[in-house]
Amino acid sequence: MKYPAIEINLSKIRRNTEIVVNICKNYGIDVVGVTKVSNGSVDLAKAYIEGGVRILGDSRIENLKAYESLPVRKMLIRIPMLSEAEDVVRYADISLNSEIEVIRALSREAEKIGKVHEIILMIDVGDLREGIYYENEVFETVEEILKLKGVKLTGIGTNLTCFGAIIPSRENLGRLVDIKDKIERKFNISIEVISGGNSSSLCLIQKDEMPKGINQLRIGTALILGLIEVTWTRIAGTYIDAFKLIAEIVEIKRKPSKPIGEVAMDAFRNVPVFEDEGEMIRAICAIGKQDCDPNFMEPVDKRIRILGSSSDHLILDITKCKDDYKVGDTISFVLDYVAILRCMTSNHINKYAVEKGKVAYAVEEGK
Ligand SMILES: *Cc1c(COP(=O)(O)O)cnc(C)c1O
Repeated sequence: MKYPAIEINLSKIRRNTEIVVNICKNYGIDVVGVTKVSNGSVDLAKAYIEGGVRILGDSRIENLKAYESLPVRKMLIRIPMLSEAEDVVRYADISLNSEIEVIRALSREAEKIGKVHEIILMIDVGDLREGIYYENEVFETVEEILKLKGVKLTGIGTNLTCFGAIIPSRENLGRLVDIKDKIERKFNISIEVISGGNSSSLCLIQKDEMPKGINQLRIGTALILGLIEVTWTRIAGTYIDAFKLIAEIVEIKRKPSKPIGEVAMDAFRNVPVFEDEGEMIRAICAIGKQDCDPNFMEPVDKRIRILGSSSDHLILDITKCKDDYKVGDTISFVLDYVAILRCMTSNHINKYAVEKGKVAYAVEEGK
């Protein structure tokens, strides 16, 4: 193994996926497996599929392109750029949309290659990221979409707890169900899908308050970490440590805990504050802020404390570890979502898949 390395335990991802897919199935909800944290890892996508996912969702078209040969449908979950319409209809079967200009472009491109591209029209019910604000031009937009030949209005959807940090509720997701009913009556069509948000919407299943009619969720975090962030709860039986970062120690020294001399700004323009805790044994690992984020990772060895990091150095307090570590040894970290995203998109981190009974192998990535 080359370091720094991130290890993806595919058995754990598969198990997390099975659990979440089954919970949702009991509520008549399909899971779109969101892969955007993995930089187009085909191995992770396959683990989702083996866990029961039938649609893969990603925010980047290059990642969906990497999944081209996988036998499931693909959804682009970031509203498309006008300039990428051609690739969107080529590599995605479905996309989330809010701009009629873009939808027209998708329709034109789809017609050119003899496809019908599916649209989920995004409606903003309060989080104020993407989507048509629910009181505004929803019906006018539907009317325009229905005139187009290259696209099909498969569903409506929303996203919550991303920008405005708004918690999914019976009220805000209920709005989506109301709008679906109104569209169906007004235009005499049927809308197959109501895509009711991301992992945070699972909190409504926890409270048994999921509005009837929501039949799809787009889920990343709950598959990766088994975590529902909005209630800060774990889903029973899931693993939080399917991803592990392994970094190599390049220095171990006894030093004071408080820097010596006059304080200016650190490498990231912050003025650091340090307590004097006396002498400590400090280790440096060869990894830094450009690859990871010290605020979103935790050493597996609970005796170790992260002191901070600069671009390329992670500084640890290993005073409590006696002589257990030497230069050249490695230290493992469990990662939160943000840290996984950073690691997986860093060119400097080596990515390996591990599985029960198999030797670790390098994962196949997108672009
Ligand atoms: C990232 C994203 C998701 C998945 O979010 P999680 O909280 O990781 O489940 C779903 N939908 C959209 C539009 C997203 O951008």
